[in-house]
Amino acid sequence: MIHKIEKLSKVLSESYSEKSLIASLGTFFEKNFDTEDFSIDINNKTYLEFPIIESDGIKYPIFKHKKSIGYLCIKGGNNELKSFIKIAAPFISLKVQNIILSEKMQKNINFHETMKNIAKIIETQYELNYVIPIIGEMIDKFFEDYLVYIFIKDEATGVNALAWPMACRDTKILEIVENFKSKEFTDNKMTLALPLKSEGKEVGILVAKSTNEPITEKDDDYLTQLSSQIATTINRANVYAEILKHATLDALTGFYNRRQLEERIKQEVSNAKRQKAPLCGIMTDIDFFKGVNDTYGHAVGDLVLKTIAKVIRGQLREYDIAGRYGGEEFSILLPFTKIEEAKMVAERLRKTIENKTIDISKVNPEADVKEISVTLSLGIYEIKDTDKDEDLLIKADKALYQAKNTGRNKVVVQND
Ligand code: GH3
Ligand code: MG
Ligand code: MG
Repeated sequence: MIHKIEKLSKVLSESYSEKSLIASLGTFFEKNFDTEDFSIDINNKTYLEFPIIESDGIKYPIFKHKKSIGYLCIKGGNNELKSFIKIAAPFISLKVQNIILSEKMQKNINFHETMKNIAKIIETQYELNYVIPIIGEMIDKFFEDYLVYIFIKDEATGVNALAWPMACRDTKILEIVENFKSKEFTDNKMTLALPLKSEGKEVGILVAKSTNEPITEKDDDYLTQLSSQIATTINRANVYAEILKHATLDALTGFYNRRQLEERIKQEVSNAKRQKAPLCGIMTDIDFFKGVNDTYGHAVGDLVLKTIAKVIRGQLREYDIAGRYGGEEFSILLPFTKIEEAKMVAERLRKTIENKTIDISKVNPEADVKEISVTLSLGIYEIKDTDKDEDLLIKADKALYQAKNTGRNKVVVQND
C-alpha cells in the first residue's frame, strides 16, 4: 500500500494540466487496481458528500476546505481499491484544486481581461464597422471552441444582418436568426442564440455554436455577459451615428469628418472651376497600420493617428483642408495649388512622417519598445475642367493604390 501511495504522489507531482492529470491517474488506477475507466467531474452542480459504491465501481467526493466540489468516478477495480481510495482521495482532491480550479480561474481572468479590453475600445470608438471586427477577434480568441456570430438589427427595416464574421454559410444559424424570438438553445445545446438588448431595445442577435461539447452553464453565463457588452456598444454606436449626422469634426483628429469633407470638396471644386484656379487632392493611407494595432494595441494605433494628423496640420497652409476620409485614411485639399507644388507638399509630408518617432511608453508601458515610427503612402491628383467633384479624391485614391502596389512609403501622381 505504502508503495502505491508513493507511486501515486509521483503521478500527481508530474501532472500540470487537467488532461494530463486525468490521463495519468487513469493509467495509474488501471495498472495497480485493474480499473476500467477513470474520470473526474467538477461541475459546480453535482456535489457528492459521501462515497457511493456501485456494482461496477465507485464515486468518491472531492473536497475543498471540507466542502464537496465534485467527485472521482472509477469503474471496475479490485477489492484493494476501496481502502486505497480512502487514503488517496485527499491527495487527489488537493491536486484537483490546484490544477483544475486554477485553470478555471485563469479562464475567468482571461474573460474579464477580454471584457475590460472591449470596454476600453468602446470608450473611445463608436464606429461599428471598426469596432465589431475588433470585438469579434477578441471573442474568437477567448471562445476557442465556439463559432460566434454577431447580427445587427437595421433600425429602419428591422432585419438582422450579419456583422461578424464576414460570412455565414450555416443555413441553420440563418434560420435561427430569422425566426428569433428570445434566448434559446438548439441542436442539443450545441447552439445558443441570445438577444442583444440595451436600454430595453433589441439591437441584434448573438449566436454561439459549439464545435466541441454542449454549451455549459458557465459558458452560457460568459456569453450572456458578453452579449450585454456588445449590445451596449451597438446602441452607443447607433446613438453616435445620429449625433454624427450633425457634427462636423472627427473626434480623434479634429479634422473634418467624411461628410463634412465631401461638402468642402463640392465648394472647393466649384470655386476652382469658377476662378480657373488649380486644385489638388491628396489621399493618404498609413502603411501596415493593422500591424501597429496588432502588435501594440489599439490605443497606440489611435495615438499614431493623432500624431500623423498633427504632422499633416503642421505641414499645411491655413487655407488647405484636411479630412479623415476613413479609419486611417486622410484626405487633403490644396486650393490654388498646381500638381508640381502639391507633389512637393506630399513629399515633405512623407519624409516628415518617416523621420518622426512616436513615444508610445505612456499609452502602452508594457510594449517592448519605447518609440515606434510609421510610414505613409500618398496619391495626388489635380482636378480638370471635365472632372466631376468626386473625381478629385477617386483619382487621387487610384494613385495611392499604385503607391501601395509599388513599395509603399512613396508619393504617386495620377496623370489623366
Ligand atoms: P496597407 O495600408 O499598407 O496595405 O496595410 P494596412 O495594415 O494599413 O491595411 P489596411 O489599410 O487594410 O488596415 C487598416 C487598419 O486600420 C485596420 C484597422 O484596424 C485600422 N484602423 C482603422 N481605423 C482605426 C482607428 O480609428 N483606430 C485604430 N487604432 N485603428 C484603426
Ligand atoms: Mg487603409
Ligand atoms: Mg493602411
